[in-house]
Amino acid sequence: MTDATRTTCPYCGVGCGLVMSSSRDGWAVGGDPEHPANRGRICSKGAALPETIAAEADGSVRLLHPEVDGVRTGWNEALDAVAGRLLDTARRHGPESIAFYLSGQLLTEDYYVANKLLKGFIGSPHVDTNSRLCMASTVAGHKRAFGADVVPGCYEDLEIADLVVLVGSNLAWCHPVLAQRLRAARDRHGTRVVVIDPRRTATCDEADLHLGLRSATDVRLFNGLLAWLPEADAVDRVFVEAHVENFDDAVAAARADAPDITAVAEACGLEVNDVHTFYRWFAETPRTVTVFSQGVNQSAHGTDKVNAILNVHLATGRVGRLGASPFSVTGQPNAMGGREVGGLANQLAAHMDPNDPEDVDRVRRFWKAPVLKAGEGLKAVDLFRAIGDGRIKAVWIMGTNPAVSLPEADRVRAALAACPLVIVSDVASRTDTLRYAHIRLPAAAWGEKDGTVTNSERRVSRQRPFRMAPGEARPDWWIVSEAARRMGFGAAFRYRRPVDIFREHAALSGFENDGRRVFDIGAFARLRATDYETLEPFQWPRPVGSSGAASKRLFADGRFATPNGRARMVRVKSVAPAVRPDIRFPLIANTGRYRDQWHTMTRTGLSPRLSAHRPEPLLEISPRDALAHGLEEGGLARVRGSDGDMLARVSVTEDQPPGQIFLPMHWTDEAAARGLCARVVAGRIDPISGQPDNKYNPVRVEPWRPAWTAVLFSRVVPDLAEVPYWVRRRAGPCSIFDLAGDDPAQLDRLSAALASGTTAPLEYRDRSAGRIRRAWLDEGRLEACLFAELGRRPEIARDWLSRQFGETSLDGSARLVLLAGRAPREAPGSGRLVCSCHLVTLDAIEAAVRNGVATTTAEVGRYLKAGTGCGSCISEIREILRDVHIDAA
Ligand code: SF4
Repeated sequence: MTDATRTTCPYCGVGCGLVMSSSRDGWAVGGDPEHPANRGRICSKGAALPETIAAEADGSVRLLHPEVDGVRTGWNEALDAVAGRLLDTARRHGPESIAFYLSGQLLTEDYYVANKLLKGFIGSPHVDTNSRLCMASTVAGHKRAFGADVVPGCYEDLEIADLVVLVGSNLAWCHPVLAQRLRAARDRHGTRVVVIDPRRTATCDEADLHLGLRSATDVRLFNGLLAWLPEADAVDRVFVEAHVENFDDAVAAARADAPDITAVAEACGLEVNDVHTFYRWFAETPRTVTVFSQGVNQSAHGTDKVNAILNVHLATGRVGRLGASPFSVTGQPNAMGGREVGGLANQLAAHMDPNDPEDVDRVRRFWKAPVLKAGEGLKAVDLFRAIGDGRIKAVWIMGTNPAVSLPEADRVRAALAACPLVIVSDVASRTDTLRYAHIRLPAAAWGEKDGTVTNSERRVSRQRPFRMAPGEARPDWWIVSEAARRMGFGAAFRYRRPVDIFREHAALSGFENDGRRVFDIGAFARLRATDYETLEPFQWPRPVGSSGAASKRLFADGRFATPNGRARMVRVKSVAPAVRPDIRFPLIANTGRYRDQWHTMTRTGLSPRLSAHRPEPLLEISPRDALAHGLEEGGLARVRGSDGDMLARVSVTEDQPPGQIFLPMHWTDEAAARGLCARVVAGRIDPISGQPDNKYNPVRVEPWRPAWTAVLFSRVVPDLAEVPYWVRRRAGPCSIFDLAGDDPAQLDRLSAALASGTTAPLEYRDRSAGRIRRAWLDEGRLEACLFAELGRRPEIARDWLSRQFGETSLDGSARLVLLAGRAPREAPGSGRLVCSCHLVTLDAIEAAVRNGVATTTAEVGRYLKAGTGCGSCISEIREILRDVHIDAA
């Protein structure tokens, strides 16, 4: 471990290179200027990594020791229990009663050994991963069109393209460094940008055209384009003739589905002119990249959506060419690595097919694994249903939180609660899924583990350790290999270090390949350990010693990975969603990410600044729907789906189209009382990819009017079991809780609980206004502060108050000010963070604009630095400028 370590970001599929360096004050992070994915750039999440590492020093955050049946054990006992119980399950119920559920956060080496153990040695095909929720539809679409799961383009294409079409992708928030690269290219040569998304997102700020289409009508829009391209004489006939199958059939199907622009516009809820403009730009711009992401994949018809996009690129010959390609961007840091090793239930290993007897035989011989069977395993949603109905008796969950991320959250929880054996390997000590674990295994976290990840452009990069794992945490590959050894498979899992696994993975990719499989990194099969240490990021497939130019873009020569080498256009037809809004559930819930949070917040939730951007889950709704359903800005609302419900804070916004609401995916039962959006997501899945539909779920909303609301600042997390609404965020030395209840007695009991162990609180009461303010101190140190009202939420200077928890001797006058909830002479304000990189609040920006100091985004940047870091907040700054100017007008 050195003072500066080059590694890769643990969050999104952009896969930015980072440089971590240590100092007396802790860790510092910077973008790696040498890494081709980001060339030194970084976003707010990456920039806050040192904060999350510092927060992990709090021993309660990490799982530090193995536990079996709630009792702390050593590794020997825990691994014996894992091996013994899995063998016993296989003996009594058959190997197929065992499943592994893996994660796009695992390193490729971890993934490889887990997949090998279950499929090859225990003999069960049921290995699936949370990547099923991310890009399984793209995998299926790629295989149908190209014959292999291959992303043909690279990030540079976004900079070279003259037109970038973003479909179902809020790039500015979900892949911020790619958005930065696109913004810079646009500044340089005026790249046209089209955003296709029902919502108006931050990404639309960079758009020349936003097509806010009706939900689930993407196939119709792209079928319309495919039908129109021949009329516009924009088909690349030479390419199609030589390299594409099924062109006529796919075009005929598209014409039947979307006969003309008027029909398309009507079906999609768009203006005819806008559709025509998009089609015209696409037709006349050879250098076009279509970026697509979860808005396409997370659909009951996701695979068809993907193929509708691939069809128009095949028809125009724009695949793998300079600045011209379809481009899937993944949500997770190692979704692509998981696909390489076969971490999905419908994959085998190294891009081989579990349904192909020759592939199965090949892997069986390579692994010397006689029990390896042909056939696919259960995909995530079906897998957890099989746990629920008792077909699966044992599940090992690694590095993921399915109790939060899978649809039908309450059914998933019931399934886990009833499962005879649940093993969970995790970094965090408290997750919703860990509650159901019989065996808990502490895994090494980012910065402690060692291996490789592959980003969205097929670039393999090293994640290197730069700090010691705490307690008894161990790397996942070690945990799995040790369990395998105890099960009697030691000879096949004799790995001493990650490089041993990487070499075997590389060797399998090249084994009897002969160019049949595009994924071939066989040249690394004899990589020396020292070369693995210094391995530079590379795109597969690249032979050692080559420049890598051959791997940058694939299929440009028109030779695809199908048996006859020709790409396949697929006949797709738009299909109405199986469940439509009705009188009981009149709105469609769309779910997604926030700019500063990641998945279930086990890491980003540790950072006070990241948690400040959106401290609570918001229900975003159009003004028309808010009025119709009696919701008010800033109030609370209950969202009910067919399977469950949640509570969220209401945000009324014109960005949300009527008929649809937006909910964030991040909040868990650890972070909020009822903020889990998976409770309103039904388990409808794409029939081909098995990916659940997180974007189209009919719901109803209703105001939830509490009897009291409060803001609590506290060093300890109190028992909030009887409080119907609470959301917690970390704020340095304390946590801030937004609370609301339906019975004032709840507030009294909470106050009593906070009082234990401290002296009598300072108190201010205004009975007529229903206002109570209390502060508990212990020898001059603030322990907790509660601000409660019967009406709306009290306005408190949250940052200022949380800083008071850092004071060790608050004197008389300082104590009295506490109950005012703000510093003397400070005006009340929201204190909401807008720019996470430079910690600039809404109040500061509004003040600068009102004072006339800054009237443009550039001036806000110069004066306050806001928006000059990762740039993801620029659209918000524009909005603030607009709002203040409207107010002033
Ligand atoms: S863009 Fe993604 S990979 Fe890059 S720093 Fe941000 S979260 Fe990390």
